[in-house]
Amino acid sequence: MPPKKFCTFCDELATTDDHVPPKCFFAKRKRENLITVPSCHKCNKYFGDEIDTHARNTISALHSNEGHWAVSEEIAGKRDRSYTVKSKNFEYIAGIIRPEEVTTPEGIFLGVAPAMNLNNPTMNKFFERLAQGLIRKIVGVRSIGYRVEWGSISTLLKYVGSPEELLRNIGPPTAGRNIGDDTFSYYGWFGKERPESLWVVRFYGGEEFYLFVTSRNLLRIP
Ligand SMILES: [Zn+2]
Repeated sequence: MPPKKFCTFCDELATTDDHVPPKCFFAKRKRENLITVPSCHKCNKYFGDEIDTHARNTISALHSNEGHWAVSEEIAGKRDRSYTVKSKNFEYIAGIIRPEEVTTPEGIFLGVAPAMNLNNPTMNKFFERLAQGLIRKIVGVRSIGYRVEWGSISTLLKYVGSPEELLRNIGPPTAGRNIGDDTFSYYGWFGKERPESLWVVRFYGGEEFYLFVTSRNLLRIP
């Protein structure tokens, strides 16, 4: 009998394999070599029903991701159909749209445009789960109870300067991979058998996000 495996996301025994990031992010013809981690049935179903579609709809709708082949070929159509299939999908997107002031780089006010507020419980859960999955698969340990701070890489670079400066300070990544022709890519900086780590992830070749995983509140990035 194979050894018992625990769920990546909770303390139950794993009975299924779950995809990280979720399968629904990938166009059908590029669903190869996806990352899977052990999961209990409850977590697998919960994330699939409550988190994955919302996260896919949000991230694929970001301006920086619009031009990616998978979005224009398949994902945008699925996203738009999902609004008519389930009204809660549309209610979620409508609920995170906020008016945002648009200014020139010199600070001249141009007007107000709709923008998505990604700092919400669904996206927090999505990025926490993504970090847990990467740590389970790449580092080989579980990270339940660890703290995940995340944000746009441009926010992080405000504090550390340029990408070159960041790399000078932390060194080259420990691991990295590109899956599905730029549908998802990651770089990770981590030590052996410890969940504490930094990840830079990118969907659809667009905006990059950092995931900073700590056992305590060591760093606050506003
Ligand atoms: Zn679970």
